[in-house]
Formats: sequence, structure tokens, C-alpha cells
Amino acid sequence: MKAVVLRQHGTLEDLAYVDLPAPEIGPDEVLLEVKAAALNRLDLWVVEGWPGLRLDFPHILGSDGAGVIAAVGERVEGFQVGDRVVVNPTLSCGRCDFCRAGRENLCDEFKIIGEHVPGFFAQLAAVPARNLLALPDHVSFAEAAAASLVLVTAWHMLVVAGRLRAGEDVLVVGAGGGVNSAAIQIARLAGARHIYVVGSTAAKLAQAEALGADALINRSEGDWGRALYAATGRRGVDVVVDNVGAATFHTSLRSLKKGGRLLTVGNSTGPRFELDNRYLFARHLTIIGSTMGTQRDYETVMGLLFAGRLQAVVDTVYPLSEGVEALRRLERGDVAGKLVLEP
Ligand code: ZN
Repeated sequence: MKAVVLRQHGTLEDLAYVDLPAPEIGPDEVLLEVKAAALNRLDLWVVEGWPGLRLDFPHILGSDGAGVIAAVGERVEGFQVGDRVVVNPTLSCGRCDFCRAGRENLCDEFKIIGEHVPGFFAQLAAVPARNLLALPDHVSFAEAAAASLVLVTAWHMLVVAGRLRAGEDVLVVGAGGGVNSAAIQIARLAGARHIYVVGSTAAKLAQAEALGADALINRSEGDWGRALYAATGRRGVDVVVDNVGAATFHTSLRSLKKGGRLLTVGNSTGPRFELDNRYLFARHLTIIGSTMGTQRDYETVMGLLFAGRLQAVVDTVYPLSEGVEALRRLERGDVAGKLVLEP
């Protein structure tokens, strides 16, 4: 089968489009004929690598996949060959205290498909049946793959970890990324009063507005912290979503009302920065980190996608053979929505 693989940690130069043997499935797994796979910033982090990440090379990237079941393991129940499915990318053991409490994204053996084990940038993938969700005919494979990781991540961050309540004001820092596009929609659905979005271009802000943002701040026009402060009547917001990190965290904390929460699931500009703790405790601020979501979150949020209450934001669909080029584009950052590969 064809696949986009990483030969060793490094740069995008270490990726290749190659032929590999088809994967073998275990008794609790299905063989997925991948019809669509979506790119995530996580793919770029995996290319770079980090201390403690040990992969078998060549490693197949890609955490988001949807497709048709080509074979089922002997213990699989409830799914059969030919079924359309989408895959929850979070792998969990099902036995530890966290898993038994329904908090699979805190699992002792937590893994993400495409990050720790082979992913979906391939014609075929072996997937645990417990991660599958039946895909209704009216939802395309590309939409399902594009929505999967970002919707469950944004849902868990805002609704479960962040406990967003109706009537609260939300600021989303960044407009083009998948999690942020999902966060805007979910904040709207959860009944947020005002959704402020800071973005770098008019096109990305226009898209944020179409998704439900009602106050747009273009950071290319000056100090966005000041603009937000003025726009909120010098009060600030209840909740900030900041997945930018080093470049914005300080201003994001300054944008919170007393008692506000800063939610984060990533850092596109770097993970390390200084904090003035006096500002944190004196203003009763909370920083809440989370990653991915539970199986229950996944079923809930994908159900909202299937019902048309949330939407996938797809920028471009590429053939799998152009996967490396698509990753280069993601690295450059000129995307407004998800990039999807079709084997
Ligand atoms: Zn577990």
C-alpha cells in the first residue's frame, strides 16, 4: 500500500511517499480502507519529535481518519466489512482507574493514533474496533476526518474541562486553526454571549465570523490586547482559548476578568514562557490544560456534526501522493480550515 512516512525525526525533508506492506489486524481490530485523512499541527510536532517519543520507523503519520471497513478481527462485534466509519484518535487501555471512570484521555497508557502508533496517511490502517463510530451516508469522509480530532479536543477543552456556561464571554486567540474554528462553533452552541476572535488576516476573521464569532480583532492592525480591552468595555472576558503559547499567553492572561479561565490544548509558537504569579493569584485566574477527549465526548460532538449543528471546515483536499506538500503548507500556516488527504 502507499503511505506518507517519516523516516527519522527531523524536518519535512525526512518524509517520503512510499510502498509498505499492508498492516495486519489483531482480534479486536478492523482493517480500514482509508478514504480521507486530515492533517493536524500534531503531525508537525511528531516530525520534529520530543524527548520520550520513541517510534518504529518508517512511521505513518496522521491522526484523523475515515473510511470503509475492509476486514474485521475475530472478536469484533457490531461492525462489518463495507461499513462507513470514522475513528476516535485517542487510544486508551480500558483498565486503569481513569479509563474505568470514563476519563480515557487521562489513561495511564494514553496514546494518539498517528502520534505513538501508525496513522492514517496510508491506503490501509489497523484500528481498534472500540474507537470506531458509524458514519451516516450524508456526511462525507473528508468532513468526518477533518472534524474528528479538532471537534473532540475543542469540546473537551471548553465544555468538560473549561465548564463554559451560557452567557459567558469568550476570546479565541487565533482564527485559522482547526481547534480554534471548532472552539468558536462550540462556544456559540454552548450559549456564549460574545465570542471575540483575534486573527491575522481579514479572510481568516471573515471565516471566524461565519462560524459564530461576533467581535473580530485583526492583530496586524496593532496591539490586540488593548483592542480587546476596549471592545469589552475594559472588563475582559470570562474564558480565553489560547493555543498559540509563548507569543500570546501573557496578553491572554491580561484579557481575563477576575476569576477568569485560560484554556489551552497546544502551543504553536513555543511551550515556554514566564508568568507573574502575583497576577495569577490576585485576580483569581485559572489555567486549564487538556488534551483530546473521552469516547463519550467523541460520540457527543460527532453526533452534533452528523446532526448539522457543527460543521467541518475544510480548506483543501489533496491526493495522498501530495501529502508532503500539504504538510509543507500547514507548516507555512497559510490555511483557513483543515487540509485533507485522499488515498
Ligand atoms: Zn486506561
